[in-house]
Amino acid sequence: MRLPDDVEIGVFGGTGLYSLLENAAEHRVETPYGPPSDSVMVGELAGRKVAFLPRHGRQHTIPPHAIPYLANVFAFKKLGVSRIIAPSACGSLQPEIHPGSFVVSDQFVDRTRGRKDTFYDGPVVTHVSTAQPYCPELRELACQVISGLEIPLHRQGTCVVVQGPRFSTRAESRFFTECGWHTVNMTQYPEVVLARELEMCYVNISLVTDYDAGIVATDGSGHAVTTDVMAVLRQNSRNVREVIREMISKMPRQRSCGCGNVLETSRIE
Ligand SMILES: [Zn+2]
Repeated sequence: MRLPDDVEIGVFGGTGLYSLLENAAEHRVETPYGPPSDSVMVGELAGRKVAFLPRHGRQHTIPPHAIPYLANVFAFKKLGVSRIIAPSACGSLQPEIHPGSFVVSDQFVDRTRGRKDTFYDGPVVTHVSTAQPYCPELRELACQVISGLEIPLHRQGTCVVVQGPRFSTRAESRFFTECGWHTVNMTQYPEVVLARELEMCYVNISLVTDYDAGIVATDGSGHAVTTDVMAVLRQNSRNVREVIREMISKMPRQRSCGCGNVLETSRIE
């Protein structure tokens, strides 16, 4: 089957999203960086052409440090995608950020190592700005939609990205909390910067699953609160499907942000 090149919107997300698509077809996309995590499903949603790719593979077999980030982002680019919606599960680093709430990240801190994290190894030296790594236009749209659906929302948040696959120690986790960071995750880096390098808009919605190791949430009487993680995961997954559907139906056709021309000011020639 011929590979489409007119897909507008890409979604990195779980297999639960496949059923949102109409007229879906599966495509194996080859890239100069090897194969993506899985085949890409392309179809229609709210009258727009949309691609889905599960980061961890359809059977969830690829751990965060082994995800082929370059191939995944390049596969979307090859299909024509200019905007990426990228939900990810995360842990909370602050007591007021409760499991079941959504955080629309505006900053990240990279604590990964050894991950290939650029398309530009020369000879054209390219330094993209990541002062504001997430698309402001898509962030605003995500916040509008999430609050409209009455899902608990934090409009900003710094996500610290750890290498994994292990979770943080209590000491590491407390350090992140003391730094003032909000969520912890294993996949935001380098995905977000690779999208920026290819001039694609990228928005992360962090779905809070539980509190990280350093946080002990207490109720009014000082007792530790435990989270039913499986119930929260199911609820987050239902909610994010609604958010994605609404965001796509409300997304303006034209981009009014600067994401599409970052390379003009990033190159030393
Ligand atoms: Zn943008």
